[in-house]
Amino acid sequence: MKTAEIMAKLQAKYPGENEYLQAVQEVLESIEDVYNQHPEFEKAKIVERIVEPDRIFTFRVTWVDDKGEVQTNLGYRIQFNSAIGPYKGGLRFHKAVTPSMLKFLGFEQTFKNALTTLPMGGAKGGSDFDPVGKSDDEIMRFCQAFMLELWNCIGPDQDVPAGDVGVGGREIGYLYGMYKKLARQYNTGVLTGKGGTWGGSVLRPEATGFGALYLTQHILNHAGKSIEGKTVTLSGFGNVAWGAATKAVQLGAKVVAISGPDGVCHIPDGITKEMIDYMLVMRASNRNKVEDMAVKFPDKAHFTAGKKSWSIPCDIALPSAFQNELSEDDAKELVANGCWCCCEISNMGCQPGAIHYFQSHGIIFAPGKAVNAGGVATSGLEMTQNATHISWSGQEVDDKLHYIMSSIHEQCVKFGTQPDGTVDYVKGANIAGFMKVAQAMLEQGTI
Ligand code: GLU
Repeated sequence: MKTAEIMAKLQAKYPGENEYLQAVQEVLESIEDVYNQHPEFEKAKIVERIVEPDRIFTFRVTWVDDKGEVQTNLGYRIQFNSAIGPYKGGLRFHKAVTPSMLKFLGFEQTFKNALTTLPMGGAKGGSDFDPVGKSDDEIMRFCQAFMLELWNCIGPDQDVPAGDVGVGGREIGYLYGMYKKLARQYNTGVLTGKGGTWGGSVLRPEATGFGALYLTQHILNHAGKSIEGKTVTLSGFGNVAWGAATKAVQLGAKVVAISGPDGVCHIPDGITKEMIDYMLVMRASNRNKVEDMAVKFPDKAHFTAGKKSWSIPCDIALPSAFQNELSEDDAKELVANGCWCCCEISNMGCQPGAIHYFQSHGIIFAPGKAVNAGGVATSGLEMTQNATHISWSGQEVDDKLHYIMSSIHEQCVKFGTQPDGTVDYVKGANIAGFMKVAQAMLEQGTI
C-alpha cells in the first residue's frame, strides 16, 4: 500500500471533499509501514474498503418555523464501518454540514470507537440546520421532522446516534420522543446522551471533557509532568468545553480562555464555578456568543472580538470546538507564548501544518480520536446499561471511564513509542484503532 497512490485515486474520485481527504491521509500515513508488514491486509484490500462508508442516507427535512414559514434542510446518516459493533456516532446540526464533513467524522469515529475497548462500529450524521437563533419550539419541530426520516435506519443493535456539535440533551430528548412514537417501542438503547430519568447514563454530559482531561493527565505523567497549577486555554463554550473546564479546575489547573465564533474571553485569574455553570446558560440561549460571558462577569472575563483562544499565553492548549480550528500560525503563536502541550478535544481540531509544527518543535501533541474518545465510550456504557436494564452510579461510570482512558493511553504507547522514547500519539492512536478494525474485517471475509 502506498499512501500517495491511494490518495491520488480518492482525490480524483471525491474532488473537493477536503476534510474527508485530510482525515484519510493522516491515518494512511500513520499506518503505511505496519500495513505493509501484513500481506493478508493487502490481499483483502482492507485499505481500499476501510476508507469507504458502508452506506450513506441522505434525506430532505421539512419543518415549519415560528413565523409559519416552511423550511427545508438536508439530513444525513453515514454508516461507516460495522466490523467491531453496531454503527455508533453522533449527529451534528450546523449550517456548514456537508457529506464531506460527515464522511471525515464517520471515518475518524471508526478508529476512535475501536480505541475505547468497547464493541462499537463507526457512524456520523446530521444536518445543515443552523440552531443559532432558533427558538426551543423550532428546535423541537426540526428534531421531530429529522427523526421522521431517520427512525427506520437506526436501532440498538443496528445504529446508535448521539449528540455532537449543535445536538445535546435537549435535542436527543426531542429525537427520542419522535422515535418512540414511530417505532412503538421503548427502545432506549437506540440513542445515547438521553436524560437521566429515561435511560441516560450519569456522567454522559461530562464524559468527553472528563475523559480528555484523564488522558491529558496520563500523557503528562508519562512525560514526567503534571497538570496541577498549569494554565489551560479552551476553545468554544459548548458541552465539551464545559466538561473539560470542570475537570481541569478540579485537577488544579487554571482555565484562562474560552472562545466563540465572535472572539475570545480572556480570564486571567482562571474560570470559576459560576462561570462554568454560565456556559450551560449560554449554550441553551442559542445565541452562540462568548461575549455574553464578559457581559455577565465584567470583572473576570475580558472579551476581544475576532481573536481565538490561541492568542492567550498558556501551558496547555485544548482545542474543543470544531475541525481545523487551530492553524499552523496559531501553533506558532502558542509555542512563542510558552505553550508546550496540545491535546485536541475537537475532532481533527488542528490543521496538518499545526500538528507538524508541534511535533517538530518537541511539543506534546495528542489527536482528537484518542483525547475525546471518553464521550463515545460513555455512550457505550450507556448502551450496556440500557441493554441490561440497570443504572450504574456516578462512581461506577467514572471508574470505567478512567479505565478506558488509561487503556487508550497504553495502546498509544504500545504503537506510538519512537526510538528516542517519546510517544507519537497520532501514530499510536491510528495504528491501534486500525489494527483492531482491520483484523475484524479480515476475519469476517470479503463483504
Ligand atoms: N459526537 C461524539 C464523538 O465525536 C460522541 C458520539 C457518541 O457518543 O456516539 O465522539
